[in-house]
Amino acid sequence: MSANGHDKKIEIPAIISVRDFAQIVDISPIQVIKKLMSNGVMASINQTIDYDTAAIIAEELGFEASLESQEIPAAEEAGEVPIWRQMIADEDDAALTPRPPVVTILGHVDHGKTSLLDAIRNADVATGEVGGITQHIGAYQVELKGRTITFLDTPGHAAFTAMRARGAQGADIVILVVAADDGVMPQTKEAMAHALAARVPIVVALNKIDKANANPDRVKQQLGENNLVSDEWGGNTMIIPVSAKQHQGIEDLLEAVLLVADNTDIRANDSGAVIGTVIEAELDKTKGPVATLLVQNGTLQAGDIVVAGTVHGRLRAMFDFRGRKVQKAGPSFPVSVMGLNDLPAAGDVFRVVESEREARQIVLERQEAIKNAATTQKKATLEELFARYKAGEAKELNLILKADVQGSLEPIVGELSNLSQGEIKVNVLYAETGNVSENDVMLASASDAIIVGFSIQAEVAARRLADAEGVSIRLYDIIYRLTEDIDKALKGMLAPEFVEKVIGKANVLQVFSLNKGAKIAGCRVSEGEIRRNARVRLYRGKDIVFEGEVSSLRHEKDDVREMRQGFECGIGLKNFNDILIGDVIESFVMEKVKSE
Ligand code: GDP
Repeated sequence: MSANGHDKKIEIPAIISVRDFAQIVDISPIQVIKKLMSNGVMASINQTIDYDTAAIIAEELGFEASLESQEIPAAEEAGEVPIWRQMIADEDDAALTPRPPVVTILGHVDHGKTSLLDAIRNADVATGEVGGITQHIGAYQVELKGRTITFLDTPGHAAFTAMRARGAQGADIVILVVAADDGVMPQTKEAMAHALAARVPIVVALNKIDKANANPDRVKQQLGENNLVSDEWGGNTMIIPVSAKQHQGIEDLLEAVLLVADNTDIRANDSGAVIGTVIEAELDKTKGPVATLLVQNGTLQAGDIVVAGTVHGRLRAMFDFRGRKVQKAGPSFPVSVMGLNDLPAAGDVFRVVESEREARQIVLERQEAIKNAATTQKKATLEELFARYKAGEAKELNLILKADVQGSLEPIVGELSNLSQGEIKVNVLYAETGNVSENDVMLASASDAIIVGFSIQAEVAARRLADAEGVSIRLYDIIYRLTEDIDKALKGMLAPEFVEKVIGKANVLQVFSLNKGAKIAGCRVSEGEIRRNARVRLYRGKDIVFEGEVSSLRHEKDDVREMRQGFECGIGLKNFNDILIGDVIESFVMEKVKSE
């Protein structure tokens, strides 16, 4: 069908790429670009246009356009129950009443997280203690119009993810700080991915609007391209302009948080079982272990017996964030407590129990469980995940995608989302350029995701963490192989996983020229062995200049299958001659992972 279908009704999202728009109106993208140009808009095929622009073109083509309605899936509908709900699953719905929202601030470095936390703390005029005697206990509360908001003041993704990885929910709402003079940056996207994975709604604080080079519209556009479409443009993300430095817009931001809270069903039973999360803990020279606990259900009281992870104790004293001694702490209330026998870990879930004896019993059981867990690690391998989908335990395959260049990301994400047919949805939580980092592994671990990479490496520290956390990293050089693997995993036919194993290294001491420009590296094997039929990489310093096959391996005049440490040999590389003295050749094989 072409554009001549008069008065056909179509729905267009608030922001759409030229390519997608062309598909909706069923003409070639080139024609769309021409139409846009004749309306004075210059856009390339991958650029986005807003609804108003798209609607004009659509109408010129004889369509009746309307704005696509955007509904945020409720957390439950989206497939996952918020962690705090799981934590209070035993509570009767009728006993639940609203509690203050717990907010965490995420965003790119230097976009103003710390400044904003300070500005919010100082904006709390209601308590009449501006800049007062606030203690740092890892969380504080502010009041606005008689309502309370709890802020976690250890900003940063690591804290947020660490909590999720331990099965606790740090926050109900994320404030994503984006500097108006800098826009969406890699850690901004990472923060979005964290919030998405945790099903936590986002309010954007568009910070630094006082700066001369602030460009709020450009940032809104970028946010829109990342699925955070401003409510001004028909989306459902509140984007609040603020200046942390000049204390502007802070109250608007807090109001937005309360609005989101009203739509998010944040409740607890303040006379129910006491349960919550450890925010932070430190050893005080005189007081012993001091921990900040955030109550999520029930009311914690001084004198209660608490178990947190493998730590326990009777609470000797509790203090609020102003350093005042308190006897009680209800839901969403952070308190600093003394009396635990050791330091719990941030993110540990705590409970109140009846007796010291019960506390010790639980701790013993947990210590036992930890010992066992060390041998039967939770593995987020593709095979494992698929088994869970089959058992109906999961309906999404979460992926984190890393690639060499921006240009590779888009087609891969496109291909991957095409695979999301059937019952299981492929969910790309995060797609960015660069090698696989520890942060990626943290996110994957917390979200039960696997990491797929295209034309990149995994950093050594990331591999180590992945091993410890049981996160699967799969690297590919061909897009087709990547998508094929995921497709196979979805169909339950995945081949066993292979990992790379370096078997030896050789230093290039001389370079010989053969006829027709072919070169042979005269080497000494410095470690392990070089195998004729293994794959090799040629390193020049830290750079990998070649990866591929060996075309010849010779010791003196003989062809050999392998050459061991200490021996000299000649190595030819298949279709590669740019070899220099000082290069290092690494020989490696792909080994099947042992299943545990
Ligand atoms: P973080 O790394 O995200 O915690 O960022 P910081 O809060 O440390 O802020 C980084 C820098 O930006 C500091 O030099 C701040 O003074 C500055 N900054 C933060 N907020 C604003 C703002 O609203 N306006 C201006 N002009 N500068 C700001």
